[in-house]
Amino acid sequence: MIKRELNFKGNSPLLYLISTPIGNLEEFSQRALNVLNDIDYVAAEDTRNSGSLLAKFGIKKPFIMCHEHNEEEASTKIISLLKEGKKVAYMSDAGYPAISDPGERLVARCIQEDIKVSCVNGSNAALCALVCSGLPTKHFYFYGFLPSKGSERRKELAILKDREDTTIFYEAPHRIDDTLKDMKEAFGGSRKASIGRELTKAFEEFIRGNFDELCELDKETLKGEMVIVVDKAEKHAKSLTDEDVKALLLDYCKSMKSKDAIATVVKETGIPKNKVYDLYISLKN
Ligand code: SAM
Repeated sequence: MIKRELNFKGNSPLLYLISTPIGNLEEFSQRALNVLNDIDYVAAEDTRNSGSLLAKFGIKKPFIMCHEHNEEEASTKIISLLKEGKKVAYMSDAGYPAISDPGERLVARCIQEDIKVSCVNGSNAALCALVCSGLPTKHFYFYGFLPSKGSERRKELAILKDREDTTIFYEAPHRIDDTLKDMKEAFGGSRKASIGRELTKAFEEFIRGNFDELCELDKETLKGEMVIVVDKAEKHAKSLTDEDVKALLLDYCKSMKSKDAIATVVKETGIPKNKVYDLYISLKN
């Protein structure tokens, strides 16, 4: 039987996850400040960094360090404080905790221990870069950081190259050059991408082009924090069998009229309309 309790009713303890600004302090929400003023402890990835952030808003709280290397032990401590009735919030250095940042294990442990979790929303670099990229937003895949070792990075990119959704990568400035070259190799020079640089900060920039063009950029101008958003791969009509197309038609027919299902499959696959129509008729027979 699934145990249920509304987050803001009942007596079970609750951990707050707080999204923090990725560069612009004005993105720290009033709700985040209210929660931080109200709680007993702040658990943080870097207590010095979060301490100075809170000091800018006149908030002083005891800190618990919880980073990549001590998340298990720190989680045990945070859980016992929550069970004693203390109020605790967790924040990482920037953006959402648990998104390419510590927090995932803490959340899983809290849930195992019947501790509720609530998120105070705010800035996130991936979504900020995606919505300004000009690339399709309907379906997207967040990858995060690629492996730093070249051979492993290239292996991952080879797996990702045919994804039919926009893909989002985080990258460090000292690897951007190698990563763009590897992406050009894997995705092809004509694939479109957008680099979101220094988001929400004074030198925010979006650099949009294909990989041939992006690889020509002066690397001295690619400084700071960056997110790379890569366009989806084109569907390869030839790689779809008749059975694949029939399966797509059946799937779309569940949620739309047959005429619209045929049009959608034509648009998505690039297969000529008469061929898709014939396959639709063969399904009906
Ligand atoms: N938890 C964060 C979030 O929700 O976006 C991500 C933290 S991850 C350790 C740091 C990476 O996020 C950076 O290397 C960069 O790729 C991206 N990033 C963070 N802040 C950024 C900014 N202001 N502009 C561009 N990219 C940023």
